[in-house]
Amino acid sequence: MKPRTPDARDAAASIVRTLRDAGHAAYFAGGCVRDRLLGRAPQDYDVVTDARPERVRELFHASRAVGQQFGVVLVRKRGVDVEVATFRADAAYSDGRRPDQVTFCGEIEDARRRDFTINGMFEDPVTDRIIDHVGGQADLAAGVVRTIGDPEARFAEDHLRMLRAVRFAVALGFRIEPLTFEAIRTHAAKLTRISPERIWMELDRMLTATGRATAWRLLRDTGLVDHLAPGWRFEPEEAERIERRLAALPTGRISAPLSVAAILLDRGPRDTRTFCRDLRLSNDQTEGATWLVQESLRFTRSDADEFAQLRFWRAHTLGNDLPLLAHADVVARGENPERWQKVAAAFNAIDPVQATPPPLLSGDDLTRAGYAPGPVFGRVLAAVYRAQLNERVRTSEEAATLADQLMRTERAS
Ligand code: ATP
Ligand code: MG
Repeated sequence: MKPRTPDARDAAASIVRTLRDAGHAAYFAGGCVRDRLLGRAPQDYDVVTDARPERVRELFHASRAVGQQFGVVLVRKRGVDVEVATFRADAAYSDGRRPDQVTFCGEIEDARRRDFTINGMFEDPVTDRIIDHVGGQADLAAGVVRTIGDPEARFAEDHLRMLRAVRFAVALGFRIEPLTFEAIRTHAAKLTRISPERIWMELDRMLTATGRATAWRLLRDTGLVDHLAPGWRFEPEEAERIERRLAALPTGRISAPLSVAAILLDRGPRDTRTFCRDLRLSNDQTEGATWLVQESLRFTRSDADEFAQLRFWRAHTLGNDLPLLAHADVVARGENPERWQKVAAAFNAIDPVQATPPPLLSGDDLTRAGYAPGPVFGRVLAAVYRAQLNERVRTSEEAATLADQLMRTERAS
């Protein structure tokens, strides 16, 4: 990801100027124009030009072709990478995923191949002028996500746009224009033809953001929710509970495992792992979501005095997320939060760094005391450590005494 500093804008503007001085047309394009008009900080700046990629590479020494076949050159300016793309039209999408080839063309055609009117504008940073061939300004003012051209055709040629429509609507607080919305409903089932990686990338962005419950609502209303991955359907009752859970999670960014866990919680850990695998989440994210689902129900049912368990949870990398998920579920089910509050208070009082201190008693200590290693040995060590975490054992001597007692009981049984 490129930096969001004003430097990025200056760097991109200087690239536009260089192209202009060399006799070419050049503008900012797409998301950065939209964001600027909305008074938001753009993620990054994209430059479009009528200069061919070879020419762009001649003009900028610090450049490399990243998608030469799509006419994209990455130019490095003042430490910032800016994508410079030649005006192009996307010829025929035969697979609903990627254009078969591109042809270089004029600016109007380049604007028209873009997905939504709000994403189809150019900006001239030199004169501060907006170049709008697609009615983007009107839709931006009205708060509308509308495809450029016939929505049926646009979603049929690239199915991922359906998810993008939802993401932009939620991120910007816009509504999806009715014909665009209907077209998504018509083509929703085709979403599974898109690679799981690309679907997850869009989902990740919409579900980890504050608008996650609205996003889920829109995924349901458009019918996309049942085509996120083959074989995954959500019955109305479950889908509604999921929405309530997502709404009950804190505002601001949350982790991807937490967002997925909030969706899969009713299915249990096994299904959670399968869902994550189906959508090609990373191993860390998959194991994280699975762990959260597995432990969250136990969290609310656990005993606030059972510190050992709380400490094990606290020490986990996703420890912070566990009470959040458990709370969201309590809210979603309309349960009494009292029990959760007690456990959460005890949990939050634990310092994550000191949650699982080094054991007071080691295997070596037991051997030195004359015990031979074996299965009993391991059980006793675990029990002593648990007692330590529960603060029932506070010194090495107390730990050794408890070990002796436990060894005797184990032998007796
Ligand atoms: P973000 O803030 O999420 O980066 P963005 O509008 O910049 O939003 P990008 O995915 O970075 O989105 O794409 C840049 C531009 O390329 C878009 O604004 C749009 O004009 C065009 N574009 C991207 N994906 C598609 C697509 N699938 N179909 C048509 N045009 C697209
Ligand atoms: Mg972008």
